[in-house]
Amino acid sequence: MYFLTILYNQSGFKIENGKITFSHRYNKTSLSFNIPQQLENYNLKHAEIFNSEPYKGKGDFFVSVVYETFPQTNYKDNEKYQAIDLGITKTITAVNTDGKILEITNPRFDKYWDKKINHAKSRRDHCKKYSRRWFRINDAIRVMTKKKNNQIKDWQHKLSRKMVENTRSNTIIVGDLDVKDMINSKKLPKSRQKSLNRSTQNNGYISRFIEFLTYKSEFLGKQLTKIDESYTSKICYVCGKVHDMPLYKRNLSCDCGNEIDRDRNSAINIMVRYLSQNAIWTGYRRFAYNLRQTGLLTFDVYKIHPMDEINTRRNLHA
Ligand SMILES: [Zn+2]
Repeated sequence: MYFLTILYNQSGFKIENGKITFSHRYNKTSLSFNIPQQLENYNLKHAEIFNSEPYKGKGDFFVSVVYETFPQTNYKDNEKYQAIDLGITKTITAVNTDGKILEITNPRFDKYWDKKINHAKSRRDHCKKYSRRWFRINDAIRVMTKKKNNQIKDWQHKLSRKMVENTRSNTIIVGDLDVKDMINSKKLPKSRQKSLNRSTQNNGYISRFIEFLTYKSEFLGKQLTKIDESYTSKICYVCGKVHDMPLYKRNLSCDCGNEIDRDRNSAINIMVRYLSQNAIWTGYRRFAYNLRQTGLLTFDVYKIHPMDEINTRRNLHA
């Protein structure tokens, strides 16, 4: 098999009994795949078959279908809000208007796989190019890269779903990517720059995560709003003083006595910014009151440890 993407419109395929069957055949093989049964309930717009690595058809074959869904409930502002700081690498930190903090540690599948992949790459580069051994190692690298990406995506699907389902807030606010910090990082020592370059890859993961959060929110009648997050990690949320906060500084400590984890400070500032920009003053006062109740320096912290139940993504082999 040797093709890129084949697109089918509504007359090109049919779905019944949990199977999608395409109108044309490959040689004499009919193209038919198992799909989740619930897809029969949706209005399918089109379907396509594609290969994850089309060169010589070496990758896996996937079937993707585009369908219409409708939100189960409409969004209604229930005066509960959750602000999320997506961090750069390690953690996702959220705070709600009750003053409760949620911290999720990123499992760093990328770190785990990158180590193996880089090791394999250096072994491959010591071989004669295009020799049998070279191809064998190269194939292994391709498989590992695919596994890495699948695991990250799968984790993001699960986590975004969990976060949207578990919050009682109907309005979820995320800080948009902080590009400024990335530029400032040029002043960092070389070793730090290197680790940061690796995490620019994470920006891609973060924007995909925001996409997942957005459509999962919509489906549950919630709403995701993006706001500009510049300076949210630099401003002391207690007194407003601006600090120099290069990425490696994990804590903000201020003359006013505020000593706080960088990402928590950032999440609180995102909330404050959203509430004040939208003149939600009752929410703002409630938030400030609840923060005081939970104590400025001590928080209720809920930690999720994520290494459980990660399955690799289901794929359809042609
Ligand atoms: Zn301060």
